[in-house]
Amino acid sequence: MPKRLGVLTSGGDAQGMNAAIRATVRAALDLGAEVYGIYEGYQGMIDGGAYIRPVAWPATGGILHKGGTIFGTARSPEFRTREGRRKAVANLLRFGIDRLVIIGGDGSLAGANLLRQEWKELGQELVETGEIDQATFDAHPYLVIAGLVGSIDNDMLGTDMTIGADSALHRITDAIDAITSTAASHQRAFVVEVMGRNCGYLALMGALASGADWVLIPENPPNLEDWEAKMCSILREGRKSGRRDSIVVVAEGAQDRQGNPITCDEVKNVLESHLGEDVRVTVLGHVQRGGSPSAYDRILSTLVGAAAASIALSAGADDESMLVGIQHNRVTFQPLMECVRRTHELNAAMRGLDFAKAMEMRGKSFQESFAILRTLIRSKPHPPEPGKDRIRFAVLNASAPAPGMNAAVRAAVRLAVDRGHIPVGVYRGFRGLITDNLQEMDWMSVSGWAPTGGSELGTSRKVPKGGDLYAIAKTLEKHQIDAILMVGGWAGYQSMLKLYQERANFPAFNIPLICVPATINNNLPGTELCVGADTALNSITEVVDKIKRSAVASNRCFIVEVMGRYCGYLALMSAIATGAERVYLHEEGVTLKDLERDIAMLNEGFAHGKRLGLMIRNENANPLYTTPFLSALFEEEGGPLFDVRISVLGHLQQGGDPSPYDRILATRLAAKSVDFIEQQYGQGDKDESAACIGLLSGEMRLTPLYEIPRLMDDKTQRPKEQWWMSLRPIARMLAQPGPGFYKGA
Ligand code: ADP
Repeated sequence: MPKRLGVLTSGGDAQGMNAAIRATVRAALDLGAEVYGIYEGYQGMIDGGAYIRPVAWPATGGILHKGGTIFGTARSPEFRTREGRRKAVANLLRFGIDRLVIIGGDGSLAGANLLRQEWKELGQELVETGEIDQATFDAHPYLVIAGLVGSIDNDMLGTDMTIGADSALHRITDAIDAITSTAASHQRAFVVEVMGRNCGYLALMGALASGADWVLIPENPPNLEDWEAKMCSILREGRKSGRRDSIVVVAEGAQDRQGNPITCDEVKNVLESHLGEDVRVTVLGHVQRGGSPSAYDRILSTLVGAAAASIALSAGADDESMLVGIQHNRVTFQPLMECVRRTHELNAAMRGLDFAKAMEMRGKSFQESFAILRTLIRSKPHPPEPGKDRIRFAVLNASAPAPGMNAAVRAAVRLAVDRGHIPVGVYRGFRGLITDNLQEMDWMSVSGWAPTGGSELGTSRKVPKGGDLYAIAKTLEKHQIDAILMVGGWAGYQSMLKLYQERANFPAFNIPLICVPATINNNLPGTELCVGADTALNSITEVVDKIKRSAVASNRCFIVEVMGRYCGYLALMSAIATGAERVYLHEEGVTLKDLERDIAMLNEGFAHGKRLGLMIRNENANPLYTTPFLSALFEEEGGPLFDVRISVLGHLQQGGDPSPYDRILATRLAAKSVDFIEQQYGQGDKDESAACIGLLSGEMRLTPLYEIPRLMDDKTQRPKEQWWMSLRPIARMLAQPGPGFYKGA
């Protein structure tokens, strides 16, 4: 008898719930289970009948891009009662469902666990009253629960990100960007309210990503008696130094140190009376829940969904309910009730005005982001401390432009100026160092840079060699440069490595050298993620969504070619985010056998009612099996069944405004780089003073430049180890036309 798994969404809806449903259902079917969708949350479980229906593989097709949840969601007061849960157990037993994947907030997940605890007792009661027969109950003696956190607020401990939070941040950042331009036109102040009753994540990250002037979050209220005066003075000073807009971001649950709520209207009144100008309030409300999920939310939901199905099907009577989350980019399993308990403990700390504990429990990256924001919002820097060395450091971009480069430079400049240092901007990458194209930068020279794409400093792919090195040394000496901060891709890394390797010949290079990874290709050593890759992934996802819709109308197979050089990150991740059937990667190679199998799959599919084919190919997947070649092959072999079209996405992947995640990552990496420069200042000739910074296992870590040759594959110019290749099997499983297609293939 196959195991039966029920899947439901409960509580507030969140973008990405559909991707979680799709992955859970498909993974469970692939593992041989029967899967039932439970509609309208717990109320559907209580009402039973048509609210509990089998779900087949194709029913979860075409939903990845949709916001909300195809199963519907509801709040069910009845489920909070024992009688309600008794009805729910009766229905589950009637359907033979004894395993559940629940996608919801902490309330929904706590409710699920309660059901698990009461299962035996309620089941016996149902047998006694004759509603369920003994044999049915004996066949399902226990209930297994796996929980996924669907909540736009990112308000649950036990996972770094909840399903929907990244998409909500996209909506918020887009809205604040738009408000900023109108505010700047009229020299107006805006107060923007974002969701988050118990959690300031959206407000904090939204403010950090959009370059807002002030933020109020529940975890860390302003600690000054007269914070209103302080806020107004920052805004006023900002105006004096040339800012035309003022934006204050307020979390729904914002409060003061005494626990009194701070509302948008109060903030508006304060601003109006102190600044004497027009202030507008925008409450973003449900817009934040709406729209298509971001690429990250689709990928996150897919990974945790597939893992939840697998754990729900393998767990036994004694296994506790588990929460499937993500930590440091890896799927994790934790006891569900422990996560609920800790979340409640944090909420209680906030209510009890223990803000230090609340911030502590939110974790390191939240605290760091808050500290960085505190400095970035200042209208002008602290005056330099007398007697402290003022470090003059060159800051430049190199390689192809990557969205988020400007956010990195802005953060580095402001954080450094605030500590009394002197950033010197270099125009057009290493070319600028060779031709002496440099200029000192100040606090206001980077105003408004956070949300912009491209590279304000300009960039180039030039890697210095021969006489260039002499010219660079001369420029560095002339401008008395004490350190170099490079934000860029592989050409930038190679250039910095070159300077490091030439230290013996050029004493001018005996200074701290730090690289910040910024390339859409995500092919750099010493980091799991590069600035720009998330934006590119979102750009690809948006375009492919459109292509898919056009293809459905006309029985078409699209071959979409994406960038990445020899690194398949964008190809694989966009395939997961868009539900592509096949992805061609250089890492795996492409063989004729693969192509034969793909043709068979397409022909079989289109012959049986399939209307759309989607293949994603990395630009360098194979030198001979090019995109036009694949197109011709499929067209010829598909005959009249389907058409084939090519879409080479090209530079749109490098363009556009950076996603909120890229802005935040850029800002955090830049902040750490400034720390590095301060620490290594004066230690110029040490090997450790030349490094690249990156995100490794969730931490900002440094890798010395001398390690780079060991970490990189020379021929393909990609890291030898690529963590994301471990996601390959999930992508393959989900892309099957139905269970088992690839088995044995
Ligand atoms: P969320 O899951 O987003 O936190 P709620 O707290 O409103 O949203 O919970 C959604 C539903 O989950 C509730 O309507 C109720 O049916 C169920 N639920 C929540 N908390 C409990 C609980 N403590 N016991 C039983 N059921 C609960």
